[in-house]
Amino acid sequence: MAEAETTINITQKGSVTASTARPDGPVIEVRNPGTGEIVGAVPDSDADAVTAAARRLREHQRDWEAIGPAGRKEWLLKLQDWLIDNTQTLGDVVQSETGKPRVDALIDPRFSIDLIGYYARRAEKFLADDHPAPHSPLGRVKKLTTVYRPYPVVGIITPWNFPLAMPALDVIPALAAGAAVLLKPSEVTPLSALELARGWAEIGAPPIFEVITGGGATGSAVVAVSDYVQFTGSTATGRKIAAACAERLVPYSLELGGKDPAIVLADADIDRAAHGITFGGLFNSGQVCISVERVYVEAPVYDEFVAKLTANVKALRQGLDGPEGAHDVGALANESQVEIVQRHVDEAVAAGATVLTGGKRTGVGTLFEPTVLVDVDHTMSCVTEETFGPTLPVIKVADEAQAVRLANDSRYGLSASVWTGDKKRGERVARALEAGAVNVNDVFSNLFNFALPMGGWGESGVGARWGGADGVRKYCRRQAITVPILPTQQRELIWFPYDPSKLRLAFGAMRAAGARGLRRVGISGTATTQGVAK
Ligand code: NAD
Repeated sequence: MAEAETTINITQKGSVTASTARPDGPVIEVRNPGTGEIVGAVPDSDADAVTAAARRLREHQRDWEAIGPAGRKEWLLKLQDWLIDNTQTLGDVVQSETGKPRVDALIDPRFSIDLIGYYARRAEKFLADDHPAPHSPLGRVKKLTTVYRPYPVVGIITPWNFPLAMPALDVIPALAAGAAVLLKPSEVTPLSALELARGWAEIGAPPIFEVITGGGATGSAVVAVSDYVQFTGSTATGRKIAAACAERLVPYSLELGGKDPAIVLADADIDRAAHGITFGGLFNSGQVCISVERVYVEAPVYDEFVAKLTANVKALRQGLDGPEGAHDVGALANESQVEIVQRHVDEAVAAGATVLTGGKRTGVGTLFEPTVLVDVDHTMSCVTEETFGPTLPVIKVADEAQAVRLANDSRYGLSASVWTGDKKRGERVARALEAGAVNVNDVFSNLFNFALPMGGWGESGVGARWGGADGVRKYCRRQAITVPILPTQQRELIWFPYDPSKLRLAFGAMRAAGARGLRRVGISGTATTQGVAK
């Protein structure tokens, strides 16, 4: 659970969690980026605290594994109830440390609730032993079983853009798999993750989930004690984690940055494309790994699309407070994000781009105006680097082929969208794109379908989260068990001492099962001019 001395002091929306004494030792202060107000302070945990947490988790993990998926389902569904009962409070906490509008803040608990339902109910089926058919008749003498046994301690390290959902999206499948979880949330937004730990404690669940707060050094210490590392964050940090895991020979999965393209083809419903791309690029102020970050539009509809997109973006309501639905776009997470967004806009303008709307901060906290950029080319940082902010650079293309070529011209490959009136064409273009997910006539749709894998190609990641059974099996070591079906002899044919006649029989049977044509019985065929044996 969260360390008892953690201070959480939410003032923006009234008192949420009673404050206790400021933690002893080094602390990290948490600010609301919209107002600059300090909303909490958490321990900056050192490597000893991380090691101690991992030791505690290991002590209890075997019991958690032993209760099986059906037992774990009960606890996960209790956590789901807790999330439902506390949704508004959790929204307060998320809002307090992110400066998101109310709707965006509430997405964190709501999304987590949906995911718990999926994995809590299906884990039993996903983790059931497999009995694969033997690859050859010779294997029929054994019962074959694949068993899914969890990694004891899964370390999960998360970023700040969805401070409750981002942790929950990986914590839930790992817990469902039977692992114990050590979660290190972003130092920018640790309070929401601590709420998840509070929920786990309040439902009285077994002590197999702990949150440890701190910065990069704490994250490194988590990597050093975990049996599997699930990381979400920047590509730069992902590289360091991959190297550290390689050194320890522990497996990992990395969900990293993106520069997602949207392709608008001339036969598209331009109104839908303009609305979808406005949302896809500017939801959560563009701080979504799968935000639309660059738009390619076929020449015949370019002017119409740009006019509609700009009108949509100008109409957005930006602000911090207010009830659900009062504002569409809120704050950026911190000053560093503002600096990146401003730099991308300024560099583009200096190189000849035009700002059609937005382009600067609003003057309130870290709020940055939703921005549309045109006259953009593929050398500009706003097209080549991840912005993670509220900008939409739009590029005119001659045709579909050029759009696909430019969309694939990136070191990232997280997701993409294709907008077209022809669904078959959309699917064909999707298959030509180098991206882990492609949505036709939609944005983020893959994210709301847990049966699909969510993973990046290229520098956007290694491995994937979710994807049905894979989402829990990834947190498991697979164990192969063979048990004889038929009565056994004293010795198998190929055991010592080697006996040429028995070996001939054994290897002859293997060749008969695996080879083709006359080679099955040891007669070589003749190679044809195509090199195919008769
Ligand atoms: P970040 O890489 O700076 O930090 C992420 C986490 O890693 C934080 O908890 C941080 O404390 C920790 N960390 C930093 N150095 C570490 C180290 N050496 N060892 C271990 N842990 C360390 O990323 P960020 O700025 O918090 O998040 C923004 C990035 O996250 C963007 O690039 C975004 O695209 C990416 N992201 C990806 C996905 C996805 O699913 N692909 C989802 C959300 C965000």
